[in-house]
Amino acid sequence: MPKKYVYFFSKHETEGNKDMKNLLGGKGANLAEMASLGIPVPPGFTITTEVCTYFMEHKSRFPEGLEQTVDRTMKKVEKIMNQKFGDPKDPLLVSVRSGARASMPGMMETVLNVGLTSKTCEGLIQKTANPRFVYDAYRRLIQMYSDVVMEKAEGIEPAEGRGVRQQLEQELGKMKKARGVRNDTDLTAGDLKELIAIYKAKVKEVLGKEFPDDAKKQLWGGVAAVFKSWNGKRAISYRRIEGIPDAWGTAINVQTMVFGNMGDTSATGVAFSRNPATGENKFYGEWLPNAQGEDVVAGIRTPNPLNESTKGEQNRHLPSLETAMPVVYRELDGFRRKLERHYRDMQDIEFTIQEGKLWMLQCRVGKRTGTAALNMAMDMFREKLITDRDVVMRVTPAQLDELLHPIVDPAAEKSAQEAGKLLAKGLPAGPGGANGQLVFTAVAAVEWTRTGKKVILAREETNPEDVEGMRAAVGILTARGGMTSHAALVARGWGKCCIVGAGEIHIDANAKTMTVKGQVFREGDFITLNGTRGYIYADQLAMKDATENPLFQQFMKIVDKHRKMGVRTNADTPEDAARARGFGAEGIGLFRTEHMFYGRGSDEPLFILRKMILSKTEEERRRALAELFPFVKRSIKGTLEAMEGLPVTIRLLAPPLHEFVPQNEEKQKALADSLGITLEDVRKRGLELHESNPMMGHRGVRLGITYPEVTEMQIRAIFEASAELILAGKKCLPEIMVPVTCDVNELKHQKEICRKIYREVVAQTGIKAIPYLYGTMIEIPRAALLADEMAQEADFFSFGTNDLTQMGFGFSRDDIGGFMKEYLDKKILAADPFQTIDRAGIGQLIQIAVERGRRTKKNLKIGICGEHGGEPKSVEFCYEAGMTYVSCSPFRVPIARLAAAQAGLRHGKK
Ligand code: PEP
Ligand code: MG
Repeated sequence: MPKKYVYFFSKHETEGNKDMKNLLGGKGANLAEMASLGIPVPPGFTITTEVCTYFMEHKSRFPEGLEQTVDRTMKKVEKIMNQKFGDPKDPLLVSVRSGARASMPGMMETVLNVGLTSKTCEGLIQKTANPRFVYDAYRRLIQMYSDVVMEKAEGIEPAEGRGVRQQLEQELGKMKKARGVRNDTDLTAGDLKELIAIYKAKVKEVLGKEFPDDAKKQLWGGVAAVFKSWNGKRAISYRRIEGIPDAWGTAINVQTMVFGNMGDTSATGVAFSRNPATGENKFYGEWLPNAQGEDVVAGIRTPNPLNESTKGEQNRHLPSLETAMPVVYRELDGFRRKLERHYRDMQDIEFTIQEGKLWMLQCRVGKRTGTAALNMAMDMFREKLITDRDVVMRVTPAQLDELLHPIVDPAAEKSAQEAGKLLAKGLPAGPGGANGQLVFTAVAAVEWTRTGKKVILAREETNPEDVEGMRAAVGILTARGGMTSHAALVARGWGKCCIVGAGEIHIDANAKTMTVKGQVFREGDFITLNGTRGYIYADQLAMKDATENPLFQQFMKIVDKHRKMGVRTNADTPEDAARARGFGAEGIGLFRTEHMFYGRGSDEPLFILRKMILSKTEEERRRALAELFPFVKRSIKGTLEAMEGLPVTIRLLAPPLHEFVPQNEEKQKALADSLGITLEDVRKRGLELHESNPMMGHRGVRLGITYPEVTEMQIRAIFEASAELILAGKKCLPEIMVPVTCDVNELKHQKEICRKIYREVVAQTGIKAIPYLYGTMIEIPRAALLADEMAQEADFFSFGTNDLTQMGFGFSRDDIGGFMKEYLDKKILAADPFQTIDRAGIGQLIQIAVERGRRTKKNLKIGICGEHGGEPKSVEFCYEAGMTYVSCSPFRVPIARLAAAQAGLRHGKK
């Protein structure tokens, strides 16, 4: 059977339906659906996406038989409308609109009023007795058609400002000036008639061709041009961003024109079946009397409110459709209810009223804010419109993220962009928004905050010594570093707004200036960060408070009902642990022991740690370790206690030690005194620790292999803390995790120490047993490949995807700022692999490790604790890979819970 290329829709007969989006595009499928529901849509037909792909593959030729089918279908339309396309007496006019599977707003072309020629114009004037309207429609056709069909589709690229559309607009401007009027609407029928002659001459002059004075020619020209617009520049870049495949093609809807600009009983508008900003169940929208569709969207005139109950400050004085045309409004409200019940979701509707008769031109699922998404999902569930599975799928992780942080007011952001206040873009490292005064040092951040000021700490890059300042600041901005850089990691852990790697900004901490594209900002100047998008603005933009939503908890309960994969948190203090539990964390997937050496209260343990690092002999080291022990034990005990028996993965010391070596003289002197050596010795020992490639140097398990006493001290702290808790009648479940391993022998070596200390603590406390697990991080590709061997010694694996990505790609995680942007701009990589797991490469390593690890131990517990553990797409990957849990910073726990539940519903049982 030959392919069906054209689908007809009308109130009498409709061939498509809403489930045929792939073939008919979103618009075509929904027009067909509305027609079948008895909702008045102007009759017409959809030319399928398959015709588009054929057209692209066959050098812009149409498939055989298409023309006859279109002619036949047009006859059906003509019969219903009792008009004829191209008829000089009573002409049918049509619109030719694009409509792809996925909405691509404004990215492709449209031609309206097709079928108007010098002859049909006269007929239409006779019929409507409204020459002004007809001439206006004709001049709009010439403008749109010459631009879309005769210029763009022909691949003509005029010089800036010399496009045919602009040149015609200039003629319109000249005409207005000559007549001394301001608005298009003030031109008379005679003026417009004259303008049409000028337009036609201009088209000939600019493009060297006559404007086609034949309805059929116009139609086919329009169809070809809309298909070609699928490969227009705008459409291609939009598809790249949204990940829409080039092969899909667009469908085309050829539909009877209806006019909202035929006088005061005509109008046009757009509406949402519920409020898209708040989710409130109220019909919400805008309309304009005597106007065409694009006038509402283009913001030429301030649109009127749809009804009385949704009037706002700006439009209170304007008439609502509800009062201006009550009968039409009631009919429209009826369609709103009908469509929502039918589609079981909020609808975005376009309508036109032609001389008192309501026509529906489009319906689709409406876009919404995070708050609206949550409120609507819960409301619709209560209204029994949707099931609890639908509820989970109705809120995206990004929308949930939006709810959890204060954000920059979108309206303020839009006007700031229009006012040219967008300074630069960086990586969106910490979500939400923040505004405050610029400071350039951690010390200033702390001091200014103490005096009640709100500050943004801007640094070239941050290091652990900045932690206090980062904590004090409301937002953090760095010129360098990637998504797993120190600043990003810390900020995300606190749920703090943060932008990193903003390469266009230059920070001079000495001069206390930030320079962006020649503009200089000084200490105390206000700036605003949108950490969710990575945008940096001048000035103090208004913020919106993410108020606690009572529906949030109810929503998360439903989410958890459908979730199969566990969600833990990365937490290093009892406070973070408690906060994460509030967000629903089911354990700690990563407790980084070294964090007790940063930030508030760290002076003393850090001093002792430094002594330990600079020790020359085992004896010296053991003395320092003994001093350090109570601090480590207290920190571990507090966190185990806060988690009340939930598993806590405690990682043995991981970072390169030289990170902790003091650089300032006063601190070096104090150390020298305490160690009984000279300042010179301290410096020398510090220099000896220097490594040219510390990320691949003496770090992680390597420290435990060279200094077993360091491992001993940590393991003893873990077991003693646990024993004390158990003896006090409390529950605890420590999981000891060995970092940066590459060989099973490392695990064996450390396990020996673990067992020895275990026996000692059990004997010394008289306790029967301490429950614990012993496992490893998988963060070196070799460990992933040898996972079957690693699993012989490990009770669990946790993927450290920050390092696994670093070592798998050979990209330093702290230095990607220098090239990642280019990699993304030039499409070398589709996404930053430190943000979203690279399924193709690093993903394979993970899959191999899961498979080989479980070959050795069927029930091997497997999780992830790299930054990817809170990123929705990566969470979905982890689910597909069969992980037991994901672990992420406290503020991302709800997002990971939602992403995990959605992955489960999408991919079925794992
Ligand atoms: C990792 O490498 O993914 C990890 C969690 O460890 P860190 O970021 O501390 O190196
Ligand atoms: Mg690591």
